[in-house]
Amino acid sequence: MNKSPAEAASCEELIAGVIRPLVRGWQAYHVPPAEGMVKLDAMENPHTLPPELHAQLARRLAAAELNRYPVPSYTRLKQEICARLGVPEGYDVLLGNGSDELIAILSAACAVPGRKVLAPEPSFVMYQVSALSAGLEYVGVPLRADLTLDLPAMLAAMAQHRPAITYLSYPNNPTGTLFARADVLRIVEAAAPYGLVVVDEAYQPFAGTSLMPALPQFNNLVLMRTVSKLGLAGIRLGYMSAAPALLREFDKVRPPYNINVLTEAAALFVLEHLDVLEGQAARLREARTVLAASLAALDGVEVFPSAANFVLIRVPDAEKVFAALLARKVLVKNAGRMHALLRNCLRITVSTEEENAAFLAALQAALAEL
Ligand SMILES: *Cc1c(COP(=O)(O)O)cnc(C)c1O
Repeated sequence: MNKSPAEAASCEELIAGVIRPLVRGWQAYHVPPAEGMVKLDAMENPHTLPPELHAQLARRLAAAELNRYPVPSYTRLKQEICARLGVPEGYDVLLGNGSDELIAILSAACAVPGRKVLAPEPSFVMYQVSALSAGLEYVGVPLRADLTLDLPAMLAAMAQHRPAITYLSYPNNPTGTLFARADVLRIVEAAAPYGLVVVDEAYQPFAGTSLMPALPQFNNLVLMRTVSKLGLAGIRLGYMSAAPALLREFDKVRPPYNINVLTEAAALFVLEHLDVLEGQAARLREARTVLAASLAALDGVEVFPSAANFVLIRVPDAEKVFAALLARKVLVKNAGRMHALLRNCLRITVSTEEENAAFLAALQAALAEL
């Protein structure tokens, strides 16, 4: 390393002088090690593509031109998504490197100091993180104790803060709750004079419902989805739709080559075999019913209704149960650490029959130790 001149700032001084105090106060997004674990913490689909599709996929990926930049309009992939995933006639999509990037794009497009982003709490943490990163203010409105939406509180907070963006995770992560459709539409109507409402349908394959068909009724409705929970978390692809004029504005802050050629090729291939992923989602919905019933039968376990590929439960002591599960090589999410309303809650991804059974056995042993 070069020796610094005497007047050069130390790294500590640079950090203090350059990095925003907000960012200095943050912890990095923590992903716990999962080697050798039954991994039920991140809502991944446990099923992979069937072996007979692997060779075909490999040929498609091998044909991708890795030496070229992607063509940044992504016309064909967008057309296939629109045609196969229920986007209304006359509506287009904007693609993101995961819906995390779409959230960042929305923040960047709307960020003016003093403007606000609003969401129920607890919900997906990136709404807040992204808003604050972009210099927007964030307002959280607590859910009710039973983790349903507090519509009067939402409407009152919206009237007070007039948020540029209101996020609704539909179904909601980390609770699994599917907010009442009429409540969601009421919020879209309330925001119509001044702001956007982003309905985040990351868990749509497990919900059996969608607000996508409602898009043409509202100028201010933005519909966001991802293929991550459907079974393609590794390729990082999200998409969102809205009134075409709005979408064109969002597109101005999208990094031009944000979807790489391998993701593009893999997504085009999988869209031709969407029935495979939809079949896997159907299996997971059935497994969710079985898992929720088994959990509800256990003494001391409260199960919240879920429309997603995970189940939220409340146990007598989540810290102890979480640790006892880890000791048995089962990794779940300790939701109790996320929000006061989730005291003693654990969030468990629905998986294969074998993994669900392994989790249930470990949970029973953990509860017996309390
Ligand atoms: C997982 C999740 C996302 C993020 O999806 P990616 O496309 O993987 O970035 C977005 N919203 C909600 C509510 C989620 O739970």
